[in-house]
Amino acid sequence: MKSYIMSIDQGTTSSRAIIFDEDLNIVTITQQEIENYFPHPGWVEMDANKIWSSVKDVCLQALEKSGLKNTDIKAIGITNQRETTIVWNKKTGLPVYNALVWQSRQTAALCEDVSRKGYGDMIQEKTGLTIDPYFSASKIRWILDHTENGQVSAANGELMFGTVDSWLVYKLTNGEKHITDVSNASRTMLMDIDALQWDDDLLEIWNIPRNMLPEIVDSSQVYGYTDLLGCKTPIAAVIGDQQSALFGQTCFDAGQCKNTYGTGCFLLFNTGNNRINSNSGLVSTVGWKIGNDVKYVLEGSVFVAGAAIQWLRDGLKIITTAAESEKLATNVPDSNGVYVVPAFTGLGAPYWNKNAKGAIFGLTRGTTNEHLVRATLESLAYQTFDVIEALINDTGMRLKSLQVDGGACRNNYLMQFQSDILQTKIVRPVNFETTALGACMMAGLAIGMFSSFDELRAKYHVDREFEPEMSIMEQGKLVHGWKKAVKATIEF
Ligand code: ADP
Repeated sequence: MKSYIMSIDQGTTSSRAIIFDEDLNIVTITQQEIENYFPHPGWVEMDANKIWSSVKDVCLQALEKSGLKNTDIKAIGITNQRETTIVWNKKTGLPVYNALVWQSRQTAALCEDVSRKGYGDMIQEKTGLTIDPYFSASKIRWILDHTENGQVSAANGELMFGTVDSWLVYKLTNGEKHITDVSNASRTMLMDIDALQWDDDLLEIWNIPRNMLPEIVDSSQVYGYTDLLGCKTPIAAVIGDQQSALFGQTCFDAGQCKNTYGTGCFLLFNTGNNRINSNSGLVSTVGWKIGNDVKYVLEGSVFVAGAAIQWLRDGLKIITTAAESEKLATNVPDSNGVYVVPAFTGLGAPYWNKNAKGAIFGLTRGTTNEHLVRATLESLAYQTFDVIEALINDTGMRLKSLQVDGGACRNNYLMQFQSDILQTKIVRPVNFETTALGACMMAGLAIGMFSSFDELRAKYHVDREFEPEMSIMEQGKLVHGWKKAVKATIEF
């Protein structure tokens, strides 16, 4: 009898359930879109009950669609959008406020206040993070401030906080377990990432009662059981989405690195058992904890990557599908000196410029749609180059290769250009559903379905490798032009 694992991948735009077999092949995928609410410009919220009901639906649909028996599913692994903050009532199990999504900027003033008080260095030392509305701490503060008797109820132990992982485990176990794994906890800005414990000084800064926080646990272990599938299924992994993708790419060791080309880009670099602090605008965070082994990562995020391709499609309407961008880009021999800096929502790592707006440089009478499309694709590669340059600054390490995933990694032109600009090999796996795969691997390790990292490596299959073909002279010239374009964008 074969064994299977179900991964729950709960994201900002959708919830998905993916069933994997023992060889890490995908058996079934089900997906349900979820609404985001934008009550004010810059605010992003979700309904936590809808998050849960969508997860319930996709899990049950996946089981049905697969034709498997419920007992064939040997474990469930959870991976999730990180930082998104939910507070619920302990007695009723009902959320007291909408979930505040990671992108939401409504706590900017709260964060500025904490920065002004001079806590920035201490927070960075303890958490590896920069004070920003992105992380959960200020979002909890917001919810307590905007719920009747919020602070008092929390102090009395009547409210519970969790990121999406905690919320799902709580629901899956019928309220029995209130946990979060180290990777998710490291994004709250409340955990000391060396001690791997909630930190009293941080709790005091944000005035958050300790008794509303979940217990911090490993990323791969059996935490409890769910009867969702109609039998007793172990919940055996919890891990934040980007860390899960790093694991799913089998980047188990220090020096390995993955980049996800989705709406934005998320680059994570495994720094091993030691945390490395960044002087270059990256954050250091926890990768995962399995038994006594803790892995740290350096992370850089680019806000607009695949979203720039969506802009070509929906804004400029010069392509009809994202995939068409490859054909147009390769119709011309080069971008004809055009640079697109897609700073639509400011610039992320390593620039962290909130006010920058997008710009196009190098237009001439000869510029065509093809050049614009090509330059936009190239901007994904240049932005990734900038993050990797920061990484090399921080670590002194050279990158041997970059493993890629996410929707836009399908684009062969982009991958070749990325290899040329980085002068590094790019490795694209057959299965680039690496986020769900990471949680599946973690769950399988916890229940003994997989016995070692080597076994997992053997089950990882490469679709294609891209080797640099461009001369260093040419690469240097192109990067120089990009740097000038970014500088001018920031100065504008
Ligand atoms: P997310 O998980 O952030 O929603 P995905 O990993 O599903 O994103 O990737 C979708 C993004 O990838 C979209 O922004 C889309 O524009 C881009 N994309 C998809 N296919 C291609 C392609 N062939 N070339 C370039 N970009 C693509």
